[in-house]
Amino acid sequence: MKATYDYLIVGAGLFGAVFAHEATRRGKRCLVVDKRPHAGGNIYCREMDGIQVHYYGAHIFHTDNRRVWDYVNRFVTFNRFTNSPLANFEGRLYNLPFNMNTFYQLWGTRTPEEARARIEQERAPYAGIAEPRNLEERALKLGGRDIYERLIKGYTEKQWGRAATELPAFIIRRLPFRFTFDNNYFNDRYQGIPEGGYNALIDALLSECEVRLGTDYFAHRAELDALSDAVLFTGCIDEYFEYCFGRLEYRSLRFDHRVLETDNFQGNAVVNYTERSIPYTRIIEHKHFAFGTQPTTVVTYEYPDDFAPGKEPYYPVNDERNSRIYDRYRTLADNCVDVLFGGRLAQYTYADMDDTVEAALRLSEEVLR
Ligand code: FAD
Ligand code: UDP
Repeated sequence: MKATYDYLIVGAGLFGAVFAHEATRRGKRCLVVDKRPHAGGNIYCREMDGIQVHYYGAHIFHTDNRRVWDYVNRFVTFNRFTNSPLANFEGRLYNLPFNMNTFYQLWGTRTPEEARARIEQERAPYAGIAEPRNLEERALKLGGRDIYERLIKGYTEKQWGRAATELPAFIIRRLPFRFTFDNNYFNDRYQGIPEGGYNALIDALLSECEVRLGTDYFAHRAELDALSDAVLFTGCIDEYFEYCFGRLEYRSLRFDHRVLETDNFQGNAVVNYTERSIPYTRIIEHKHFAFGTQPTTVVTYEYPDDFAPGKEPYYPVNDERNSRIYDRYRTLADNCVDVLFGGRLAQYTYADMDDTVEAALRLSEEVLR
């Protein structure tokens, strides 16, 4: 007997939503389920006091991928938001990413020549580090001790809950270094926030699909599997295989959302707190993502948190041990018939939204031909 659906899609996050849209458009019958009470996964926004609050952390869409940019622009219009975070260290503010403004704030250097000379001097003691063995060594080799201690060490150690000497160097690949007065955090050609927030994008993608929220796949596994010919699973891969090779490690976060009776709390969407002794890593003021003029404001304090069963897995810990465990799950996944795996949890990877859209489009092209 033919099943009711061609695809059961577990997870209504960005990956699941793009795949569901592509499958439905090609005439496939899809059922999307999510255990949360809303669609959107981590890009979900909740409206508070007329402000779109990035409920699971600040999300800025940025990409160099023209196909992905054109794709998302078919569903929503993006505003002109450019991410230019500030760092607060011991009460002083510094521009990020590291650029001429930052160097001026750190050392008073006014020209690229002065700044380069100063950085050379800062780096000189670490020239002997050929291949950095950990994050601390990479940071010191890149910019010297002053930048490391004021802007990297404290933030990184609280974010990851480990000493920087025990963290892989690749984590700070995303901190560009510039000799212009340019505070744009990203180098990508396209950037912005969807007008009306990210739910507008998810709602448009899922507009033709059947969606069941508040439905945990594992609580109804046999019954849901029986409804469809194939499954796309975007949840945690170790959970799918009942942790048979052990649990993958994650870093979690705790978000403290607050409505404040002021129209402008910090004058910027993102302010990082780079001291170790301050327990949160950043404060997000959401109205600035949309140039809001509401009389009140909503801010979110973001606290890094140890992961434990029952908490949200936000960042995979892609060290050697976890990569080995993941590879074993991946082999099982590759041998599953009629089950596809996609998205950041099933692939145990940190993927930005543009990579997520690209991966979901590729998978749909591959299997829906
Ligand atoms: P998710 O959004 O996690 O969706 C997976 C869904 O599956 C969830 O809704 C979950 O509830 C559901 N699910 C899991 N298990 C089950 C189950 N058993 N049954 C039913 N449903 C289940 N990217 C950017 O490009 N720019 C940014 O600025 C940016 N900032 C970020 C900040 C933070 C704090 C984090 C964590 C990520 C950020 N990202 C950013 C990355 C972005 O969030 C991801 O690229 C994107 O959300 C991945 O989508 P996904 O569908 O793979 O995963
Ligand atoms: N980072 C830092 N200081 C900062 C911001 C970031 O040292 O003020 C480091 C930190 O190790 C972090 C990494 O850069 O884990 C990536 O940070 P980013 O904000 O780019 O990524 P996100 O945490 O939003 O994924």
